[in-house]
Amino acid sequence: MLKLYNTLTKKIEEFKPLHPDVVKLYCCGPTVYDYAHIGNFRTYTMTDLLVRTLRYLDYKVKYVMNVTDVGHLVSDADVGEDKMEKGARREGKTAWDIAKFYTEAFLEDSKKLNLLEPDVLPKPTEHIKEQVEMVQKLLDKGYAYQIDDGVYFDTSKFSSYGQLTGQKLEELKEGARVEPNPQKKNPTDFALWKFSPSASSGRVQKRDMEWDSPWGKGFPGWHIECSAMSMKYLGDQLDIHTGGADLIPVHHTNEIAQSEAVTGHVPFVRYWVHGQFVLVDGEKMSKSKGNFYRLADIEKKGFDPLSLRYFYLTAHYRSFLNFTWEALTSAQNALNEVRSSIANLKTAERSILSEDKLKKIDAYRKKFDASITDDLNMPQALAVVWEVVKSNIPSPDKYDLLMDFDEVLGLNLKSQISRPNEEKIPDEIKQLVDEREKLRQEKKFRESDELRKQIEGKGYVIEDMPQGKPRILRTK
Ligand code: AMP
Ligand code: ZN
Repeated sequence: MLKLYNTLTKKIEEFKPLHPDVVKLYCCGPTVYDYAHIGNFRTYTMTDLLVRTLRYLDYKVKYVMNVTDVGHLVSDADVGEDKMEKGARREGKTAWDIAKFYTEAFLEDSKKLNLLEPDVLPKPTEHIKEQVEMVQKLLDKGYAYQIDDGVYFDTSKFSSYGQLTGQKLEELKEGARVEPNPQKKNPTDFALWKFSPSASSGRVQKRDMEWDSPWGKGFPGWHIECSAMSMKYLGDQLDIHTGGADLIPVHHTNEIAQSEAVTGHVPFVRYWVHGQFVLVDGEKMSKSKGNFYRLADIEKKGFDPLSLRYFYLTAHYRSFLNFTWEALTSAQNALNEVRSSIANLKTAERSILSEDKLKKIDAYRKKFDASITDDLNMPQALAVVWEVVKSNIPSPDKYDLLMDFDEVLGLNLKSQISRPNEEKIPDEIKQLVDEREKLRQEKKFRESDELRKQIEGKGYVIEDMPQGKPRILRTK
């Protein structure tokens, strides 16, 4: 049974989907005006681990992640430029080109991190009709009003506004950023539809992305896209919604208000799951501070992208995770060690297991399952992996167990082991293996052991066979 911490109730709860046959899960995806950094990818990896865990537990999951390609303004207070338009000016391209380029970059990095592909990856620019319809419903029901620069949600009309943060409306009002538009009724009111600058103020900077609407030419606000698209693909009520912790006070708070106001179905989301930040020198990694690294930066230094995934697994998703190169090096070393120990596992005939061994295997599996179902305790799950690696259970069973665990961990352990007939072994390695074999036959075991280590350092392991030549396996 899966237990999850729910930001809405601030408690660890037993997870029960609304409909037993499918779990409806939505994750706030990237805003594609620039590359995603490794802080962002921690949040997507957390969601990936949750989806994998649910599937491992035999739930069917419908997994939707949006790709924000319009409407996300540089300030949460609904002022300032659209990040997409800003990206376009920075690079001298159109916002459409920027969206295409950075969406592809995001998907490439996601693949390298072995992130599952969502079942649907909707974009707000392709769902303008749905968003306009939702805004119209909010106006019809009296939850929204129009002022000079757009249509806004009236947060004072929604009695449970702010429930996700645990703050009352008054406290949220005090915390809200600078008053952006004096016509707004409450500082916490947020834009559902913004007018293009030319339409409202006569300024001539023409947007690349704008659409007609019943209220005037413009573009949808950032929050409405997640409500409109999640409901389109998952229905009025979602089982799980994920994102980073910084989305709680504004984006997710606003998603709840407009969704519940439109449908009357409460709660819009049954389990809110938020991931904590990656830090650098104790500060949140963020684009605005410039203290960020991309996957390409770690690859340039010779790290395998999956070492980053291993690094993420070393901390619970609700704890801060401080990024350092030393920590990433340790993660890479640990990953290499797991890989080579798997490659070393003999593909011996499966023997009949003793009662004792069977019990041990069962106990490891139970321990692993208990870790992942305990609010996704991945550091503990990794500890079980190491117990198994170091255990004396027979190799084929060890292998099977680790491969099962990897369905959740996603370290792609299977692909690390390529059999010699599938893989071209370089001549240099073959020569070293032959030399080692010669030394072994001459019973020069110390020297042959030295050569074995050298070979392992080059990313290959030798599996000695009872008869014939040894097998050479690649570990990296
Ligand atoms: P953004 O592109 O800023 O909308 O962020 C995309 C996702 O990454 C959101 O779910 C954010 O909450 C999350 N995020 C942003 N910065 C970090 C960070 N330093 N560590 C972990 N997640 C982050
Ligand atoms: Zn969202």
